[in-house]
Amino acid sequence: MAYKIDGKAFATQLRSNVSKNVKMLKEQYGITPGLAVILVGEDPASQVYVKNKGRQTLDVGMNSFEHRLEATTSESTLLDQISVLNDDPKVHGILCQLPLPDHINEKLVINSITPQKDVDGFHISNVGLLNTGQDSMVPCTPLGCLLLLRNQLGDLSGKTAVVLGRSNIVGKPMASLLLKESCTVTVAHSKTQHIKELCSSADILIAAIGKPKMIEADWVKPGATVIDVGINRVAYDDNKGSEKSRIVGDVNYMSVEPVASAITPVPGGVGPMTIACLLANTVTACCRANNIPIPKGLSA
Ligand code: NDP
Repeated sequence: MAYKIDGKAFATQLRSNVSKNVKMLKEQYGITPGLAVILVGEDPASQVYVKNKGRQTLDVGMNSFEHRLEATTSESTLLDQISVLNDDPKVHGILCQLPLPDHINEKLVINSITPQKDVDGFHISNVGLLNTGQDSMVPCTPLGCLLLLRNQLGDLSGKTAVVLGRSNIVGKPMASLLLKESCTVTVAHSKTQHIKELCSSADILIAAIGKPKMIEADWVKPGATVIDVGINRVAYDDNKGSEKSRIVGDVNYMSVEPVASAITPVPGGVGPMTIACLLANTVTACCRANNIPIPKGLSA
């Protein structure tokens, strides 16, 4: 039976570490970290994410600045708004909720955020810093996975890791982080051959593909640690004639759990870590902006 990695509990611990350090920044330096979130349009999922981010930001004692813009907002108006936030000393982190409406160039917008305030870690400068093993803002979901792995396994050096998925927001930064930890890393994707055999050789398997329950027991090395990033909404019949939906991961938990030594559930695994890491990144950004040593346990 694998150990169930409780991401919800770990995220609560991380938020309390953030909260403690926010208090320290206020008391010792007179600084309150601030996070600005921009939402363009009315995408229902994005509205929920932004609301949760705002609530959790206030809960840890930071300032939260929300900017809700119409779906028809022009690219130049959005860039002007970001420029104001870049110059605002009360704002230490800026996040522009993705996806953006089609008429706005996402890359241009991301790269217009000052890299030091880019708490999502998507700016090209932060991508470059991470890939060259230097201090950077690290994307929140891979950072959450790394903190869970370190907590579970301690030193990751020398372990073999397979990262399934090569997106810019999860797969690639995850691979860079594991390489920085001295793992031997392979990145697999939709064109990878003999993928099952490859995965079943890994001490650490990270699944970030967006395919419900694709990873079965025979994809997993006995004793491996499995991190399931996938969030897939699937329909099911509740046996009372109505169709409902629920969230499942990329890993078939019931099948893999007897083989692995530790595994994250979905929900309750990686998901809760993402916002907690966003808050941790905002404290990191605030400390860097003010030449204050970065508190332990908040960064990669
Ligand atoms: P993307 O769709 O951007 O990338 C998916 C990746 O998986 C691609 O690299 C793709 O390969 C690869 N892939 C797709 N199908 C297969 C397959 N059959 N075999 C091998 N590789 C495959 O997704 P994201 O990285 O944005 O997200 C991945 C999952 O993580 C999603 O379920 C998403 O909802 C979830 N997620 C969860 C977060 C959280 O907070 N827990 C945050 C962000 C994402 P190719 O490049 O060849 O197309």
